[in-house]
Formats: sequence, C-alpha cells, structure tokens
Amino acid sequence: MDLRYDIVVIGAGIAGASIAAELAPSARVLLLEMESQPGYHSTGRSAAYFSASYGTAAVRGITAASEQFFRKPPDDFTELSLLHPRDAVFIARQDQLKKMREFHHEVPQLQVLNQDEVLRRVPILDSNYLSDGLLETGGGDLEVDAILQGYLRRFRAAGGTLCCGQQVDSIAQLPGEWALSLNAVKLSNSQKREQVRCGIVVNAAGSWAGELGKLAGLGDLGLQPRRRTALMVKLPDAVDASEWPLTIDVEEQFYFKPDAGLLLVSPADETPSIACDARPEELDIALAMDRLERVTSLATNRIEHKWAGLRTFAPDGEFVVGFDPRVDGFFWMAGQGGYGVQSAPGLAKLAGSLVTGSTLLEGFASLDSFREVVSPARLLA
Ligand SMILES: Cc1cc2nc3c(=O)[nH]c(=O)nc-3n(C[C@H](O)[C@H](O)[C@H](O)COP(=O)(O)OP(=O)(O)OC[C@H]3O[C@@H](n4cnc5c(N)ncnc54)[C@H](O)[C@@H]3O)c2cc1C
Repeated sequence: MDLRYDIVVIGAGIAGASIAAELAPSARVLLLEMESQPGYHSTGRSAAYFSASYGTAAVRGITAASEQFFRKPPDDFTELSLLHPRDAVFIARQDQLKKMREFHHEVPQLQVLNQDEVLRRVPILDSNYLSDGLLETGGGDLEVDAILQGYLRRFRAAGGTLCCGQQVDSIAQLPGEWALSLNAVKLSNSQKREQVRCGIVVNAAGSWAGELGKLAGLGDLGLQPRRRTALMVKLPDAVDASEWPLTIDVEEQFYFKPDAGLLLVSPADETPSIACDARPEELDIALAMDRLERVTSLATNRIEHKWAGLRTFAPDGEFVVGFDPRVDGFFWMAGQGGYGVQSAPGLAKLAGSLVTGSTLLEGFASLDSFREVVSPARLLA
C-alpha cells in the first residue's frame, strides 16, 4: 500500500464500493475495509429488494433514478441480470385503511387491489385478517453480490486500490491533509500499524459512520444503527411461491417474499443498536413467526436460516451525503437506512459529482435537486 492518496474511502460495503468506483477514474483512490472481505456487514445481509415506493420522497427519487442502471448496467459491469421482476403488495387490515389511503396519496402510482385481487396474488393470506392492498409494479429482486462485485471490478480497472483487513482507528486533520492510522490486527493478528495520508476522506463505514465521525472530531450527526432480523422459512412441498409478490404490511410491521425456494420473513424490527456484528435475537425470531402465523394460513415452523443486520438512519431518515461544512475534505456517505442497495447507483453518482464538482449526466441530472436534502449541513443547525 502506498502512503499518500488523493482520496481514502472507508468501508467496502455497497456505499463505499460504489462511490470509490465513481471517483477512481479521476483520482488516486484507496478503499479500506476492516473485514477480510467487502460486503460482510449490512450489504451482505439485505433482503435484496428494489422498491421505488419505499422511504422518504428523496429516497424514492434517488431509487427511481437508479432503476435504469439495474435494468441496463454498463457493458463492463456484469454479465448477469441485476434486477429480476417481482411486484410488491402493501397489505392492510380494516383498521389500517386510513394509513393505506395516506400512503396511496403519497405514492399515487400504486394501484388499489381489493381483497380478492390480493388473495389471487398471495393465496396463503388469511381473508379474516386482510382488507385491501396496494400494488407496486416495477419492483424486483436485486443481485446484491453481482452489484457489489461490479462496482469493485470497475474500481480496480480504473486503478483503485482495495485493502481488506485494515481498520481505521484514528483520523487526524493536518494542514491540508488527513492522516489515518490503520490497524491490521483483525486480519493478521500482528500488531502492524500503518499510516495513510490523503486530501479527502470519504466516510462510508455503514453502521460505524457515526463512530468514524467522532474519531475525526466531528461527532456522529445523530446516526443510529437499528437491527433488523430476517429468516428463511421452509414452505410445504405443495406450495409454489415463486411468483408471489413481496408482501409488506402497510405500516411495515412485517414483510415476506419468496427467495430461492424458501420464504424470507422479517418482523421489520428496528431496534437501536451499537455498531457491531449483529446477531438475531430469539424474541425477534418468535415475533416474525407469530406475525406470519397471524396473517397467513401457513403451518410451518421450519426455519432454515436466520440472520440480522444493521440499518443506519439519520434522525430525519434522509441520506447523509456531502462534505462536512466544518472542515476541509471530510465527506459523509452514510445513513443509507433500509435503501442502500436499491439507491446505490444514483447515490454514488450524486456523491461523485459532489466530491469532484462535476455535472450529473446520463439520466442522473434529476438528482441535483436532492443535494440540500441529503447534505450533512442540515444536521448541524
Ligand atoms: C435485514 C435487512 C434487509 C435489508 N433489505 C434491503 C433491501 O431489500 N433493499 C435495500 O436497498 N437495502 C436493504 N437493506 C439496507 C442495506 O443493506 C443497507 O442500506 C446497505 O447495505 C448499507 O451499505 P453500507 O455500505 O453503508 O454499509 P455496510 O455494508 O455495512 O458497509 C460498511 C463497511 O464499512 C466497514 N467499516 C466500518 N468501520 C470501519 C473502519 N473503522 N475501518 C475500515 N472499515 C470499516 C465495515 O466493515 C463494512 O463492511 C437491508 C438491511 C438489512 C439489515
């Protein structure tokens, strides 16, 4: 590893990999990851769904701007298809119909479904539970690993350097540059330490973004990691779920979707957590199974696989993307919440243009209007 770079990106999840790939053609970029492989934390634990109806208006806008990239990625990105069509159905009980109407008002392109129309799409739902639903077409299952590897391949091809097993454990501002201390202990068990200097630090550390802000003396901007649990449930042999939509409670109290012959179920938990290697809690697993039983006629308790990951949110739920106005050269790429994969192409383009001062092109020009909403400056008032 050289010791001086134009830009150091901390964190090789989808946020770090995507912005690093945007920046590498015009700068000397080092991408640092503390784990032995990229994508080990939140990026490798997502439900891999794309929905342009999910999240705040800005999240929806940046996600929508990302859709074309997934549908038709650049030639050098991947040979795989990145987005497999799967509709989403937001379901409501009788007592949730007001919420459903409010949601529909916010996202008018959704189509109202009556109970029969929902049941035709998701036959295991209990008709005593269900009232109506809203249909989103145009969503789908994302190939998360292919997206991550596509960005990493582009990054390396443009001359970028990726170093895994290197944890940044101090960040100091010097005149005109930043000095980062790296701790390789996690991977090699040696106490070897290195120092890297750069003009710009990009904080793309996912759930650790707040901690890194504190290391740089800038505080955590209120970024809060929240744990979310997911399980894979075995379906009875007679049930073919492959064409079911993603089915989600309109108030996001649970969701499920078919995945590789099983049913991915989440209780949609949002438990505040410290930044850590998240593990599923028994209570959340029980909650997921209880919600599934209350909503469907499914008789199963065979859990094949379970995991948890962290989704990290700013206090207002918006992304945190931009230079910190208090210092020179510290860029936040954080607060991706539950949308970091589906929004990655748009967010990386926007972040890249903010770092380099370049104009947004290629169908991403509309992202300019989100600069203020995602700016870290809003969190400093
Ligand atoms: C259960 C679940 C379901 C989800 N479903 C979806 C979905 O369907 N669609 C969607 O778009 N999103 C979904 N998400 C959200 C999505 O996974 C995240 O928004 C996204 O992965 C965040 O990416 P990231 O790169 O910011 O974080 P991460 O992937 O966590 O990457 C951050 C990286 O920084 C590294 N790092 C941290 N500190 C340091 C340091 N000091 N030095 C070096 N490296 C460091 C970490 O090791 C980590 O690899 C889901 C999340 C969960 C948990």
